Amino acid sequence: MYFIANWKMFGGLNSLNSLHKVNKFLKFLKKKSAKIIYCPPSTLIRPMSKKLKKSKIEVGAQNCHEHESYGAFTGSINSIMLKNVGAKYVIIGHSENRQAGETDKLINLKVKSALKSGLKVIFCIGETLKQKRKKRTKQVLNKQIKLGLNKINNHKKILIAYEPVWSIGTGLIPKRNELLQTITSIKSIKRNFKVLYGGSVNPKNINELKSINNIDGFLIGGASQDPNKFIDIIKKTYN
Ligand code: PEP
Repeated sequence: MYFIANWKMFGGLNSLNSLHKVNKFLKFLKKKSAKIIYCPPSTLIRPMSKKLKKSKIEVGAQNCHEHESYGAFTGSINSIMLKNVGAKYVIIGHSENRQAGETDKLINLKVKSALKSGLKVIFCIGETLKQKRKKRTKQVLNKQIKLGLNKINNHKKILIAYEPVWSIGTGLIPKRNELLQTITSIKSIKRNFKVLYGGSVNPKNINELKSINNIDGFLIGGASQDPNKFIDIIKKTYN
């Protein structure tokens, strides 16, 4: 099971103190299958990976530029630079970035460049509330997968994170049956790919979510910033 923490644009150097608690908890968690990945803001990747050198927690980034080498792109960071400071993963296609203008084509270039640099990719997809109401979820996800992963079939290096846009940060989660069906449908398009769920995962709803047996893990935003909540989610998943 994957537990991926997306800190979004939160955190300074003092936030790294919270890792101690999670690390300590993991030492006693006798679950080899638990893969914990923290995706902090880029400014914290280096100090975090140094701090976690002896830990089983891995570090990832939240986005990257599509250009495969250095270049005149003020304010941007590419996948080589992320790898260089200790990232092993990168989130690509997060709905907050899609909403800010990232297209499927751009996302596809980013995925390709990240894989080329040796990063694993957490590829996010998800429908908006409007699309869901129009019963277009399947169609939207198919398109995002088809275009975003065009000419890419590296199932061992890519995790798909299904994150309904209407669920992110709202406290809402899909109905059990809907989620089961959607994950099955994603897995039928991309066989052998691991599929995670993300969107308002918290200690209160994890028991319901964990009972959906085709989910391979969770991408956790808000709740991952609090070590107690993050630990609670992992604990409950295995109870
Ligand atoms: C996210 O932004 O990837 C996410 C899952 O956020 P939250 O858990 O806060 O809904």
